[in-house]
Amino acid sequence: MKQELPKSAIVIGAGLAGIAASIRLRSQGFQVIVLEKNSTHGGKLAEFSEGEFRFDKGPSLFTSPELVDELFELCGKNPRDYFNYVRHETSCTYFFKDKSSLIFSGNHEKLKQELTKKFTSELAYKTLTYLERSKETYARIGDFFIDNPPVKFKDVFRKDLIVRYPHFLTAKLRKSLHQYNHSTLKEPKLVQIFDRFGTYNGSNPFKMSGLYSMIPHLEGNTGTYFPVNGMRSIAESLYQLAVDQGVEFKFDADIESVKFSAEKYFVKTASEQLQSSYLICAIDHVKFYRDILKDEKLLNHYSKQERSSSAVVFYWGIKSKMPELGLHSIFFSEDYRNEFEQIFTKKIIPEDPTIYVHVSSVVKAKDAPENGQNWFVMVNTPAGVVPTEDQILVLKEKILARMKMQFEIDLKNEIVRERIWTSKGIEEDTGSFMGALYGASSNGKLAALKRHGNKSKKYPKLYFCGGTVHPGGGIPLVLKSAKIVSELIQHEG
Ligand SMILES: Cc1cc2nc3c(=O)[nH]c(=O)nc-3n(C[C@H](O)[C@H](O)[C@H](O)COP(=O)(O)OP(=O)(O)OC[C@H]3O[C@@H](n4cnc5c(N)ncnc54)[C@H](O)[C@@H]3O)c2cc1C
Repeated sequence: MKQELPKSAIVIGAGLAGIAASIRLRSQGFQVIVLEKNSTHGGKLAEFSEGEFRFDKGPSLFTSPELVDELFELCGKNPRDYFNYVRHETSCTYFFKDKSSLIFSGNHEKLKQELTKKFTSELAYKTLTYLERSKETYARIGDFFIDNPPVKFKDVFRKDLIVRYPHFLTAKLRKSLHQYNHSTLKEPKLVQIFDRFGTYNGSNPFKMSGLYSMIPHLEGNTGTYFPVNGMRSIAESLYQLAVDQGVEFKFDADIESVKFSAEKYFVKTASEQLQSSYLICAIDHVKFYRDILKDEKLLNHYSKQERSSSAVVFYWGIKSKMPELGLHSIFFSEDYRNEFEQIFTKKIIPEDPTIYVHVSSVVKAKDAPENGQNWFVMVNTPAGVVPTEDQILVLKEKILARMKMQFEIDLKNEIVRERIWTSKGIEEDTGSFMGALYGASSNGKLAALKRHGNKSKKYPKLYFCGGTVHPGGGIPLVLKSAKIVSELIQHEG
């Protein structure tokens, strides 16, 4: 009797998407090998230490932790045996140039009090109504688009889609996110706060659809969280789960070519040839078409799409404590429209940048010495623009000047450790095309529909997950993309 061969899959990339996809496929009975170019897993969820300071290198904002838990539960494990997190009530403190500030809380009562104190009770009411609408949009269309493969033109008459049209074809779709925020909230500071959610997928709030007003639902309603062992522990714990389930990881894997023949993928690395029935791309799809599949036509098509923003990140070990800084702080620019115009149209480093500061030692005290803090300081920049040393120095001076203006401190003398990550490093370390943080941008009303899908139309049994494909970038969506891929494969098989 002919023996049934086990189902096999090769996953390219051991970032969060690749690890999550490997766990899901393993739980479906696949033999899974993950090939990673670096010597460790996690991709953008990297960490490093400088003296007594520990830094998470990439993501810092953690929402929807249940999506991480879900993977442990899928394998019959107690998530708490691997990974833990805490809810952080203050989602962000916003600082404005007139020295005013606003604490944005995921606790609606606290948020209402703060908005009433800083503005009026009417504006507090409007903001909570905004969040309520955001929740509704998320429930009626967000979940549907995020949980399923991308909608195709031939699907337009599908019953489950038709019922959603009244929620989709609304004024929000016609307006930009900024126009929607302005028309609902009016107060410029609040509009700027809600415009900022456009940067959650590296896009321009003045160009992206008002439907993205559902993004604040995550932070404003479901809340923000932080892993007790830092952001890196998300990747560490899932990697451990994957290994425990029998996924095989091969690091420092230099993939030379991929060929499909006789119902199999043949993947040649510098040291061996591997084969599998399924291939999962969990790296930037543009790089995959360019360097691995070498498909000029698809490369041409997808590389032309406008990229999301990149960043310059300063990691500073600070020898003192700034009580004003919480886990997440934002120092807004004066003219937000001009800042985005400079990033996306003029493609220059913004002259007056909005500054994001994340201090993980606020929650995880061991990340810094007793009297110090670990600052992750990020400024959005255009993808593909590599700042010169002079430009980085100018940027640093601007950040220091802003801190002096805001808190009357001379931060320069407080910095005892420093590292810098720019678009060049982001591209080299994680393989992101042009150093973009989230693949293609969501600028334009129908951008979501143009995003690369999860299943190849051209190559059999080739699937895509990760921050550059549907449904989008960021930890929650990357985990969703891995789930969509595993469901598509289950359906196919
Ligand atoms: C500075 C920064 C801040 C961010 N902030 C947040 C945040 O606060 N919250 C949030 O949710 N998200 C944030 N993000 C986005 C988030 O990090 C990503 O969306 C997510 O981690 C992407 O996961 P991924 O697995 O798709 O890709 P990656 O993490 O990029 O993983 C891809 C992996 O593939 C490997 N690889 C690449 N090319 C090859 C190849 N040819 N062969 C083999 N392996 C290859 C890479 O080395 C890497 O390990 C941020 C990103 C950055 C860079």
